[in-house]
Amino acid sequence: SASTPLLALNDVVAGYGNLTALHGINLTVNKGEVIALLGANGAGKSTTLRVISGLITPKSGSLTWKGQAIGGMQPGRILKLGISHCPEERHVWPEMTVEENIELGGYLLNAKSELERRKDLAFQRFPRLKERARQLAGTLSGGEQQMLAIARALMSEPELLILDEPSLGLSPLMAQEVFKVVSELNAHGVSILVVEQNVHNALSVAHRAYVLETGNVIAEKDSASLLNDPELLNAYLGG
Ligand code: ATP
Repeated sequence: SASTPLLALNDVVAGYGNLTALHGINLTVNKGEVIALLGANGAGKSTTLRVISGLITPKSGSLTWKGQAIGGMQPGRILKLGISHCPEERHVWPEMTVEENIELGGYLLNAKSELERRKDLAFQRFPRLKERARQLAGTLSGGEQQMLAIARALMSEPELLILDEPSLGLSPLMAQEVFKVVSELNAHGVSILVVEQNVHNALSVAHRAYVLETGNVIAEKDSASLLNDPELLNAYLGG
């Protein structure tokens, strides 16, 4: 129904071996939203993204996608359902060409024609990548590698794009460009869940934000109210 969130996490507990990194997370992403996940290092932001995309299995709690339980599903199945995870620190393959990296994002596609169609779309969206299609990815600038990672993640035509620190290590100008891409994708109907250290960049595009601290959600606010909450910003987000 219209009120069913695209994605919902209900009391999700997860971690690594004996370490519990998430102590019962509640979070929703509605269709068309950009949601920011904020918090200090080690708060559990990346772990939240990993549990959503199936890279780690929740210990308890539920995850639903359009009402369907997805907790513990294999990453490939979750990708097929429409959730694409663009991981931290870019993870492009430096010894492969730009084009080959993009093709990897379409690894679930059977039809070559569909792969070509989506690759054309990627090159239309990112003309700089088209110019550098045959160049090794490792020779791109940091900002270009980030764009490549996003282009690759978009090859599955996700309804929800998950971005982990897309502006990490980029110049302020390149970071702005990345967030412009995020806005454009959202304007084209892609919902987005983004982890970001730069609170102001994140809140400039997000509709709502969740603040995590040591594996707990300690606040959920729309971006405007969060920007008007200096106490919260100072306490948890470094001002
Ligand atoms: P950062 O910005 O530093 O990535 P984060 O908010 O994304 O912070 P997580 O990476 O989710 O935090 O880490 C949450 C907790 O889980 C931390 O205590 C961290 O040390 C631990 N952790 C993260 N990844 C692993 C891993 N692969 N193996 C073991 N422990 C991990």
